[in-house]
Amino acid sequence: MNKYRKLPWNQKKVQHLLDLARVAKIGHAYLFHGQRGIGKLDALMEFAGRLFCQQAQEGESCGQCQGCRLFAAGSHPDFRMLRLEEEARQIKIEQVRESQFFIANTPMMGRHKLLLIEPAELLNINAANALLKNLEEPAAGTLFFLVSHQPGSLLATIRSRCQQIKFPRPEKQQSLEFLQQTLSAEQAEAALEMTNGAPLAALKFASEEGMQEISAVHESLLSLLQGEMNITDAASDWMAMDENLLLETLLTATEILLKGLLRDKTSSATNRHWQSLQELQSLLEAKHVRSLHFFYQDLLNTRAMLRSRANPNKQLLLEALCLEWVRPFRDNTERWKRIA
Ligand SMILES: [Zn+2]
Repeated sequence: MNKYRKLPWNQKKVQHLLDLARVAKIGHAYLFHGQRGIGKLDALMEFAGRLFCQQAQEGESCGQCQGCRLFAAGSHPDFRMLRLEEEARQIKIEQVRESQFFIANTPMMGRHKLLLIEPAELLNINAANALLKNLEEPAAGTLFFLVSHQPGSLLATIRSRCQQIKFPRPEKQQSLEFLQQTLSAEQAEAALEMTNGAPLAALKFASEEGMQEISAVHESLLSLLQGEMNITDAASDWMAMDENLLLETLLTATEILLKGLLRDKTSSATNRHWQSLQELQSLLEAKHVRSLHFFYQDLLNTRAMLRSRANPNKQLLLEALCLEWVRPFRDNTERWKRIA
């Protein structure tokens, strides 16, 4: 079973859903959306745990009953989760088909059964269409929970059949208090800034492994500019990384470098934590602002392509990114001429 956390900023939402379920007012299909790394899935797993508990107490599941034990073991007959299978880039139609029996039958143990799909934007087109049929004719007691960081990428026909509930970004103070349970105040601030205020993403980034990966990306950006690393090698290193971490790191690094160029170089608090970013900052000049903006746009485009259903060649996309990164520093290129 996936580990999930009881997060303070989720409690109102979880309780609201439970109240709806208790009085049989809960809808059958929901689309929960919001920024990545704020704990949407934790909230819904907490809801599920409490929904399936047969002797739920105030604010908690009991952890002892059959419902709790089966749910904790990942074998509750009324719960099913569709996620990416290992190495896959999309949620496939086979996964939806394998859920047909689950969807078509009434709950085995209680009043509800729950199919959770996360992240729903990765349903491929066939899977989405197969799901659509089920959304139209749900068996009694079936709940469909779709979770998405990018609800705009979902089929409009699916969106329109779901009630949409947005998870807002938690208050900064609440996020900092949460992070400071395991991080120093300074680390918590830096990590939260690197993740645009998403506390769980910040926690992941702030782990030793995450910090090393982030530093490695910064170092490869620096080595590329200094001509100490070639484009193919850098792209290969990036291929081996967690894709979200890579893209978020590149986006955030570019934002920080831009901010540094646009104001006082010493004013960025985060910069102090990242040695290679400091060195990069010292290599950049005001004339690079525009090419950094272009690079930022390239990053957004690359991210959109990698997350699209088109299944692009990732190594080539990453090589193209590296090329755009070094372009302003190499002579006689089109873009560089445009800026000069
Ligand atoms: Zn229980």
